[in-house]
Amino acid sequence: MIAMEELRQKYLRVRPFPFCPGCGGGMVLNAFSRAIDNLKIPQEDILIIAGIGCSAWIPSPFFKADTLHTTHGRSLAFGTGSKVANPKLKMIAFTGDGDGTGIGGNHLIHAARNNVDMVVLCINNNIYGMTGGQVAPTTPHEAKTATTPYGNPSNPFDACKLVEGAGATFVARWTTAHPPQLQKTIEKALQHKGFSFIEVMSQCPTQYGRKAGGGNAIEMLGRFKADYSTGAADSRMRLGEFVNIEKPELCEEIDKMVAKASAEKREISEQKNFADATPMHVRIAGKGGQGIVLAGMVLGHAFASCGMNVLQTQSYGSEARGGACKADVIASKEQINDLSPENPDVLVVMGNEALEKYGKGAPVIIMDDTVTALPPEGAKVVRVPATKIAKELGSAMSANAGMLGGLAAVSCAVPKEALANSIKETVDARFAETNTKVMEKCFEGAKN
Ligand code: SF4
Repeated sequence: MIAMEELRQKYLRVRPFPFCPGCGGGMVLNAFSRAIDNLKIPQEDILIIAGIGCSAWIPSPFFKADTLHTTHGRSLAFGTGSKVANPKLKMIAFTGDGDGTGIGGNHLIHAARNNVDMVVLCINNNIYGMTGGQVAPTTPHEAKTATTPYGNPSNPFDACKLVEGAGATFVARWTTAHPPQLQKTIEKALQHKGFSFIEVMSQCPTQYGRKAGGGNAIEMLGRFKADYSTGAADSRMRLGEFVNIEKPELCEEIDKMVAKASAEKREISEQKNFADATPMHVRIAGKGGQGIVLAGMVLGHAFASCGMNVLQTQSYGSEARGGACKADVIASKEQINDLSPENPDVLVVMGNEALEKYGKGAPVIIMDDTVTALPPEGAKVVRVPATKIAKELGSAMSANAGMLGGLAAVSCAVPKEALANSIKETVDARFAETNTKVMEKCFEGAKN
């Protein structure tokens, strides 16, 4: 076994310790460092993610590896993004019961559901420690905290059962009074492919000890030994490994999806020629209820089927229906780095308010026949009677598709056939046929 001093020099930065005397944080760091050392995982392969709280101080800034010290509760969202961007990373999250199961509860559920390949160490001290001893989702019923001075009226939940129900593929619980078992389980989790969750019951003598009457560190460790066991009747006090199964992992599933999309994209791009001008930023704007977001999705899908990288975002007011809204679609053959360029290359607009709000700076504006407001000076304007044609063909709601037909005719940014395929795949089958007809008629009209 590696000596403590050697372990410290190899894995830890020399910093003043931030933990209160008797805190369990250092014991978790010890078990974790030993697990990494036993498995000989190169430190440059590791990315540690942490949120906010005492748990986040365990790896950051002590452990010598890259660390993302993120916002409260959001570490697993940052971790999911990092893992998808670089699946080779050995991803480990340090979170607490407040950070991970309270503020970040939703991210926890969905990271488990997606079976993201990461190890989550959830250090449960039954309270929000660093922020002042507030009640947490794991605080026992009737326990006194800074925010429940007359006792906690709520019931705690079992974090292990929660992530098991959400789809985690490795779930375990130990306490800081069980260091060898904790280390072995961390090693197993590090070798497991998929979402691994280890709850570590840890003593917080400062907040839980003083406020909730938990006692000092020795008393708490004694209780962990006495009350928690592999055969405990109360599932929240049961120790051991509860789940260890295999399921497809998120990055592998994404790879499969990309392979499928690439096969489709080749079929279309070999047949059709589309404009080389990239990146291209199209903004579709109108009123809520006109299918602006759907038009953005159809266009984005069509660009993607032509082998382009696509970024699609949308924005609408709190009123949702009736107010001005927009969908931005950026397509490029290169990687898209500028995520929100201010001015689009083309504005496709279906309402007066939207023209006023989003019209500035667009060199080309494609306007529906219902738009009566004056376009900004200097812009090249093309009028497409999409609403009129959509009504003639039986559904005013198909005008959004007509505007895309006008865009295809005017800018040559995307082939009409790619739009037709995208409508078939994206739009409800009941409306797809009319939408395609409206799109094609507007395309022909705008071409001539
Ligand atoms: S507040 Fe509690 S959990 Fe935080 S460092 Fe102090 S003892 Fe540890």
